[in-house]
Amino acid sequence: MPKSNAQRVVVAGAGIAGLTAAWWLERAGWDVLVVERAPEFRAGGYLIDFFGPGYEVARRMGLLPELERRRAPITAVTSVDARGRRRAEMSASAYESVAGGVVSVLRGDLAEVIGAGVSAQVRYGTTVSSVDDGRVTFSDGSVEEFDLVVGADGVHSRVRELVFGPPERFVRYLGHRTAAFSLRHEELSARIGHRYQLLTVPHRMVGCYALRDGVVAALMLHRAPEQAVPDDPAAALRARFGDLGWVVPELLSVLPGDFYCDEVSQVDMPAWHRGKVVLAGDACGAVSLFAGHGASLAMTGAFVLAEELARGTDGALDRYQARMKPAVTHTQEFGRKFIGWMAPPSAWRISVRDMAFRLSGLPVVRNLVRGSVTPEVDGVLATGGTAR
Ligand SMILES: Cc1cc2nc3c(=O)[nH]c(=O)nc-3n(C[C@H](O)[C@H](O)[C@H](O)COP(=O)(O)OP(=O)(O)OC[C@H]3O[C@@H](n4cnc5c(N)ncnc54)[C@H](O)[C@@H]3O)c2cc1C
Repeated sequence: MPKSNAQRVVVAGAGIAGLTAAWWLERAGWDVLVVERAPEFRAGGYLIDFFGPGYEVARRMGLLPELERRRAPITAVTSVDARGRRRAEMSASAYESVAGGVVSVLRGDLAEVIGAGVSAQVRYGTTVSSVDDGRVTFSDGSVEEFDLVVGADGVHSRVRELVFGPPERFVRYLGHRTAAFSLRHEELSARIGHRYQLLTVPHRMVGCYALRDGVVAALMLHRAPEQAVPDDPAAALRARFGDLGWVVPELLSVLPGDFYCDEVSQVDMPAWHRGKVVLAGDACGAVSLFAGHGASLAMTGAFVLAEELARGTDGALDRYQARMKPAVTHTQEFGRKFIGWMAPPSAWRISVRDMAFRLSGLPVVRNLVRGSVTPEVDGVLATGGTAR
């Protein structure tokens, strides 16, 4: 229970950054309120590879045993052709050694595991309508005063827009759109199996894998000069991927109504805080799925924010930004270079990537590949300590 004279913080967004911030801040004695736009907890979603400094933060939070329990049982990353035949493969152990220790989990599972340790109230179906420094008006019309406002409401952050300006000023579109979903489908699950299978043609990629209990997860990625998500994302996806073979027609025929569909963008802004308002996670530093460290950095940023606040509120937001932003900028640069690996623009580039898969069993190749697929950001926790 927070003390009656505790400082009050509102966290907008019950995602990876928001729940991690709530977790650490309430343990540091803050009186925490979380507001989340979704009407209820967002389960499932897409599979993320979780590693790097966020993994260390999760260890400090005691979450690793539960994350390991929910780890996706992936045995290999396999490139397949349009008939599902294997072109090249990287074993899970080779991938783990390239990535430097990784656990693959659904985004919803990661959020749920973090949220299980949060006792603060989460007000679902609620957003922030206006912010006047610490005075916040919510979408239900209520107005409350806070000592700190944390905008952890994702890449399309409303808090950012209200306090810092329109998205055009900060969002860097990476020329691709993505869609992702998971659903129970015994037959597809059996066909796909526990390999992370990738069907790649120039500028388009479909990845899918079977999780436990007949659940299949899929990711679709394609180049799109126009940034805006179409009015009918399902129809647009079918038009874009309908000509591909293998399991793609079946996947397109079972698209769930609420599948994730979005532009692939990064967020780059000079200042992450203003007055009593501070941003965390994708809201201020989205690195994009091309960089693959967004969840890790979202957790790390939330931890560093709480740690710096625990050291003293004076200058804490500056210190938080100074520690996190270089790692985010570095990862964003890395992510832009990785576009050609994940969505190769030509048959030749697909062959080069497949060659790297085939040779990934060789230590010398692993070392070479490691440098090009994993950014070095572990130093961000180097100033050490805990926020407790
Ligand atoms: C397809 C895909 C694959 C990815 N793969 C990886 C990967 O392999 N590894 C990795 O580390 N990262 C990966 N990422 C990135 C990672 O998911 C994000 O970087 C991470 O989730 C960011 O956390 P966040 O808390 O900032 O935002 P989110 O997790 O997006 O959470 C934001 C929350 O805010 C809520 N919200 C939005 N607007 C409002 C509002 N106005 N008011 C209140 N609440 C609001 C949302 O509903 C959501 O719950 C991937 C992303 C995608 C899309």
